[in-house]
Amino acid sequence: MGDSKTEIKFSQLFINGSFVDSLSGNTFETLDPRTGEVIALVAEGGKEDIDLAVKAAREAFDHGKWPRMPGSERGKILMKFASLIEEHADEIAAIDTLDAGKLFYFGKFAQIPAIAGNVRYYAGAADKIHGETLKMSREFQAYTLKEPIGVVGAIIPWNFPSMMFSIKVSPALAVGCTVIVKPAEQSPLSALYYAHLAKLAGIPDGVLNVVPGFGPTAGAALASHMDVDKVTFTGSTEVGRKIMEASAKSNLKSITLELGGKSPVIIFDDADLDMAVELARLAIFFNKGEVCIAGSRVLVQEGIYDEFIKKCIEKSKEWKVGDPFDPTVNQGPQIDKTQYEKVLSYIELGKSEGAKLVSGGKACGDKGYYIEPTIFTDVKDDMRIAQEEIFGPVMSVMKFKTIDEAIERGNCSIYGLGAGVITKNIDTVNQMSRSLRVGVVWVNCYFAFDPDLPFGGYKMSGFGKDQGMDSIEGFVKKKTVATPLYNS
Ligand code: ADP
Repeated sequence: MGDSKTEIKFSQLFINGSFVDSLSGNTFETLDPRTGEVIALVAEGGKEDIDLAVKAAREAFDHGKWPRMPGSERGKILMKFASLIEEHADEIAAIDTLDAGKLFYFGKFAQIPAIAGNVRYYAGAADKIHGETLKMSREFQAYTLKEPIGVVGAIIPWNFPSMMFSIKVSPALAVGCTVIVKPAEQSPLSALYYAHLAKLAGIPDGVLNVVPGFGPTAGAALASHMDVDKVTFTGSTEVGRKIMEASAKSNLKSITLELGGKSPVIIFDDADLDMAVELARLAIFFNKGEVCIAGSRVLVQEGIYDEFIKKCIEKSKEWKVGDPFDPTVNQGPQIDKTQYEKVLSYIELGKSEGAKLVSGGKACGDKGYYIEPTIFTDVKDDMRIAQEEIFGPVMSVMKFKTIDEAIERGNCSIYGLGAGVITKNIDTVNQMSRSLRVGVVWVNCYFAFDPDLPFGGYKMSGFGKDQGMDSIEGFVKKKTVATPLYNS
């Protein structure tokens, strides 16, 4: 039974099918954001451990059976992996609650089943990856093969430790790649649990490795490794740049980057106001605002601006902050002290920039890293709270007049991850969804995810797609084969 007393069974590195200590013997503390107390000491992978993991993954790719078995066989093993994840939803959800402050009941009943669904989606795709037959202008025939790209490094963040694991690992495994996961140092525990389940499911040794450690050491070693063929990364734009640099300076490995965002939720006068308030609240306060695609800028048309703010303040008071194991709670603690202090300092900045603080704005609770859901109004486009990713429960509300203004200001960001558009007018929907330079537009909804929907940004939110069949394309290489039709 998963609860706050859940035992941590796996805290070593998982390399070549075994749990092992790091070569240096070093460990690091992973902390419970509800209290700041230590949950477990985790083996700290360094460059030499990454070398070992890459060696195992390379051997499994170059000589092992995983890339060579029929896709349907890989699919069967991944189906088993998905079932094991579902069977252990309780325990995994508890681990992510302890390690990352995520809501336990949401994890157990929604997130972990969705993760199993992701694994199943790619298990089903494993035997449907094929190339094309091509016509040449001469009497030749030609075709393309889609081959697994090779050894994949997956560097993942702490805000969705389980979801990120499944999004990155499942398509890579489905196509026949081998993988080294470097989970975030703030939330390494569930990835190790998945490694254990993967072994139980029958994923061969060396195919999936998990090496917890720090970004500048373990993460950087993976990004610059000469024997890694691809890095798939989710995290900050700043680190995304470093990953790209490391690729350029090493072996030009292929990369997918899913980075920061400052996504607008754009609410028109004709919107259903209650729905708009509900969506705007969810878009920024869900997962304590620790969401790359959080709706952190709320643009509201002038006719409903005042009413929207009034209702939004009321609704934010009903948003309960507290222990994420409590089923009545909507928002747990920020991941760690650093993020907590960063969010609080942005709230101070918002005040000093002249935005109007109308709700929240303070830390809460007598221990741990809890912050009140916070609303600023009268926010201007050039304020830093409207431009920079805060990664916390801080909503910035702005007023607009016309649709052209909404487009221009919606796009007024270095980022382009997503946007929400709330309106009943189909012409507005069409115009907005074609004009916003973002990777996903949610119309009269927010956070509408599905394994089949590609996810990834425009502009400095990165490139390449997670999820959907598009993600498969990031883990395959296309080879062209041509041959004359008549040889003699
Ligand atoms: P956040 O700012 O949300 O904490 P980061 O981008 O810092 O996100 O971290 C996301 C992931 O990238 C984590 O697993 C982290 O350890 C890793 N990381 C951080 N710095 C580097 C680096 N220089 N090279 C490779 N990975 C890194």
